[in-house]
Amino acid sequence: MKIKAAVVREPSSPFVIEELELDEPRDNEILVRMVGTGLCSTDLTAQHGHLPVKFPGVFGHEGAGIVEKVGSQIKTVQPGDHVTMSYTSCGICNSCIKGHPTHCDHFFPFNFLLGGRPDGSPTMRKGDEIIFGGFFGQSSFATYALATERNTVKVPKDVPIEMLGPLGCALQTGAGGVFYSLEVKPGSSIAIFGGTGSVGVSAIMAAVVSGATKIIVVSRSDKKMKRTEQFGATHFVNSGKCDPVEEIKKITGGVGIDYSVECTARPEILRQAVDCLAMGGKCGLIGAAPMGTEVTFDMQTLLDGRSVMGIVEGDAVSGILIPKLIELYKQGRLPFDKMIEYYPFDQINQAVEDLQSGKVIKAVLKF
Ligand SMILES: [Zn+2]
Ligand SMILES: [Zn+2]
Repeated sequence: MKIKAAVVREPSSPFVIEELELDEPRDNEILVRMVGTGLCSTDLTAQHGHLPVKFPGVFGHEGAGIVEKVGSQIKTVQPGDHVTMSYTSCGICNSCIKGHPTHCDHFFPFNFLLGGRPDGSPTMRKGDEIIFGGFFGQSSFATYALATERNTVKVPKDVPIEMLGPLGCALQTGAGGVFYSLEVKPGSSIAIFGGTGSVGVSAIMAAVVSGATKIIVVSRSDKKMKRTEQFGATHFVNSGKCDPVEEIKKITGGVGIDYSVECTARPEILRQAVDCLAMGGKCGLIGAAPMGTEVTFDMQTLLDGRSVMGIVEGDAVSGILIPKLIELYKQGRLPFDKMIEYYPFDQINQAVEDLQSGKVIKAVLKF
């Protein structure tokens, strides 16, 4: 079928809307008509070729829309259902069987490397030219996307579908990181480094839900930090004006923070996020640095029961977490609609500019 998609022809070139041919869904595939798709920093990392992706490619991994067609083996959704899409996984490796599909043995090939289906076949073409799709099992910067039951979640129809795409990555990552990876406890303290973007703001909202009483945002921009107050941040530390480790120790009465989250992907910030921990504290690394980036810690710091863990997609099973996040939203406890600015799909490059400049927390493209 004919679709319109935002194609990146080569690393660092802009998104160009082109007409492409998308395969009809196979027996195990779901065709989704896109209504809204979020723009995530990982899309931009891919755009610049800093992920192992192929060009020309179609990115986008926070798609939300309406099921148009399903293959013969599909049981969980039917045409007309509202769905969000997330990362994909194999379903049969040890991590998937143990309920940790974010650690799937095939996470990299299926979501990035292959540029098509898990069997390596392409899903999109322009004439005879292959356009690489299958990004996060969806490539949602397009009017239609092919997904599977591994990464499609049915959502209720009483919430606007165009705003639900970010649940598939930013919300899931920030909230899942707080709920599942760090297991933030009531009355605890948490510091979120680089906490002014959509993942950080999601972590702030989830920390409120978890009952954390000190929610510290660390950033170099007072203006961006101020914006997070409405989501529940309680303290702001401008790391450009003070030593954030000392400042966090001061705020926590000298003992350090129970939990920290690193969203900037910079080794010196990760070091600060570990150094500010209380004895036994946990640091979650969310920021994805380029391959080969190294970091150093004082071994004594870690010996005192502190730990660092990597967090991908909030260690969440999307089909379980996303419906819960929607319930929290409906109860007014996860007001993620307040972080979204909408752009028409063909304004994607403007959305990229506004996201990079920090003008918006989360850009969502509407179709
Ligand atoms: Zn797997
Ligand atoms: Zn993402």
